[in-house]
Amino acid sequence: MLRDILAGLINIIYPVQCLVCKKLVEQEIIVCRDCLSSIKINVPPFCRRCGRNLKEGNCPYCRNIRLYFDRAFSPCRYVGTSAELIHLLKYKGKIKISGILTEILIKFITGFHIAMDKIAVIVPVPLSSSKLREREFNQSELISLPIAEKFKIRHSAGNLIRLSNNKAQVRLKAQSRFKNIQGAFAVKHNDEFYGQNVLLIDDVLTTGATCSEAARILKESGAKSVSVLTFAS
Ligand SMILES: [Zn+2]
Ligand SMILES: [Zn+2]
Repeated sequence: MLRDILAGLINIIYPVQCLVCKKLVEQEIIVCRDCLSSIKINVPPFCRRCGRNLKEGNCPYCRNIRLYFDRAFSPCRYVGTSAELIHLLKYKGKIKISGILTEILIKFITGFHIAMDKIAVIVPVPLSSSKLREREFNQSELISLPIAEKFKIRHSAGNLIRLSNNKAQVRLKAQSRFKNIQGAFAVKHNDEFYGQNVLLIDDVLTTGATCSEAARILKESGAKSVSVLTFAS
């Protein structure tokens, strides 16, 4: 009773807004139920390469490009609310959003029986050291660490590294993204990935260029397979 009154008072003094639609919400809620249910979901059947919904025939998203990873999965489409969530996390520093993304990813993994028991090591797509200094956190690692803990899989951060000698991918067109990202990654100790099935985790997959290049380097270091899991695509 007293606690309810106090909670009510706190809500009056410090009103909490949904980070997406700004509607007033209860304490502890960061994104309201309406916004969460407006997230566009990637539904099966999935393209066997990029993981997007594919009715039949060749996938319009990935048919003409070479991708070095074996498969990719994403629970959400990169539009509307899910794109807004990623924006809030990455560029507005709302790191609590990562908890929502992780929860949706875990539901997706269990719901679609993604074979996590075959995965030996989880690797977040790294940021360059200069980008990490600027942003102060790696959004992919905020997602990958709780997933590794949940499924009891080894988490490897710091062995796959990103060098800072290329331009930011976000402002480039599809073709130039594949070119620009070449040589952006390196592996410090090959033995960690040698002969292993690796799951690469990132927040979003657009052209696939970043994850593809990271997968290429992981395979060059001996990884047996590289799958990709992103929140949205
Ligand atoms: Zn909302
Ligand atoms: Zn595809």
